[in-house]
Amino acid sequence: MSRQFTVDRLSPVLSDIWDAERPWKLDTYRAHGGYAGLERALTMAPEDVIGEVKASGLRGRGGAGFPAGLKWSFLPAPDGGPRYLVVNADESEPGTCKDIPLMLANPHSLVEGVAITSYAMGGHHAFIYLRGETVHVYRRLMAAVREAREAGLVGKGMGPNRDFDLEITVHAGAGAYICGEETALLDSLEGLRGQPRLKPPFPAVAGLYARPTVLNNVESIASVPGIIANGVDWFTAMGTEKSAGHALFSVSGHVQNPGQFEAPLGITMRELIEMAGGVREGHRLKFWTPGGSSTPILTEAELDVPLDYESVGAAGSMLATRALMVFDDTTSVVRVISRWTDFYAHESCGKCTPCREGTYWMKQVLHRLEAGEGMQSDIDLLLDVAGNIAGRSFCALGDASAVPIQSGIKHFRSEFEAGTSTPAWELFPYEASAIF
Ligand code: NAD
Ligand code: SF4
Repeated sequence: MSRQFTVDRLSPVLSDIWDAERPWKLDTYRAHGGYAGLERALTMAPEDVIGEVKASGLRGRGGAGFPAGLKWSFLPAPDGGPRYLVVNADESEPGTCKDIPLMLANPHSLVEGVAITSYAMGGHHAFIYLRGETVHVYRRLMAAVREAREAGLVGKGMGPNRDFDLEITVHAGAGAYICGEETALLDSLEGLRGQPRLKPPFPAVAGLYARPTVLNNVESIASVPGIIANGVDWFTAMGTEKSAGHALFSVSGHVQNPGQFEAPLGITMRELIEMAGGVREGHRLKFWTPGGSSTPILTEAELDVPLDYESVGAAGSMLATRALMVFDDTTSVVRVISRWTDFYAHESCGKCTPCREGTYWMKQVLHRLEAGEGMQSDIDLLLDVAGNIAGRSFCALGDASAVPIQSGIKHFRSEFEAGTSTPAWELFPYEASAIF
């Protein structure tokens, strides 16, 4: 089993069958209780299904943590026209690596979640929008949808009255980070160049083909079957009052055993690092990210902060995608942030000036600091440019690009100052920081 599939069984729900023989097969999923949630949902009134998801407090697992049931209830009353479910499977945030293993190991949990959600919102066509590079995931999802259709679990005439129809389309994008932004994803799905749309209107009102659309992340939708099958109390017994339930935590970087850990929200980073075998032998933790490169970095001081939306927010960061990247004392902060900024500059869609121009200039300044050729004024320049991107960009990508720079300078200013005289590779040789 590869590292990506290392799973701790603290709270196995989504990862329950990952270690089973061929967990992606329908027979395996059903042998472990799979599709019981759909069976129950189809005997309920759609609004009751929405009511249960709302009562569970399930919050979007794609990063923003918006309550899923509430989002579904924003859909306008049916008008006879189509309404769609779109699953955001375009996982691209640096460090984020939970949806791909989930779809590979247990695609039926997503297919079942898609069927329940579509039934609840009255949608007859659902789309799963996937990163184009992940051909293996595409094939696995296609096979799972085919299996479910052949078994009569999705398709025409679902439910006890055989009166619900559902078509599922798996769509591979072309591999652009911006297409994970929900409205850029919709444009891409419609065959347009993927660029964010102005919000409002939110997709719930005018989404795919300008029709009411529910757009949720893979893990959010895959969490729905468990809630419907086991009940609201089962779900809310895990996690905290405002951040209920289980979630996947992806621990990567300088730990002994990187991998996926499924646990209730509210677990701490200290516990997760212990479960991952600790920081590399002979080294100390330097900093970590709670939710990928777009969240302010944290240090040893925040190791005991409960990983729920409120507590991480109060600690000055964001839980976001639970992409917990661990960096030890061999890491150059300047180099890491320079690589992340290269990424944002490359992935900026170019629609708005602060992000398009600002990421380019931040990248140039970071490159010279990394090379030890920076100027004294560069740190203020970086903060100035970052401050003019944050809150002034068209979408969250711009804000995200400013975050690592602002938080990196806040915690490790002296390392940026050292970039005016010494290259990062002399202060932190590459060999020492090699991860694998
Ligand atoms: P957001 O807070 O703007 O919106 C969250 C969701 O709630 C959206 O679906 C939005 O349509 C809906 N929503 C918000 N207000 C609404 C309203 N008044 N009416 C109806 N619907 C409403 O966040 P966002 O820009 O969609 O996402 C940002 C997050 O994405 C970041 O926190 C980041 O962690 C995450 N992210 C994840 C990845 C990944 O690979 N999974 C990549 C990049 C960013
Ligand atoms: Fe495009 Fe960046 Fe503007 Fe978002 S913030 S619309 S990615 S240029």
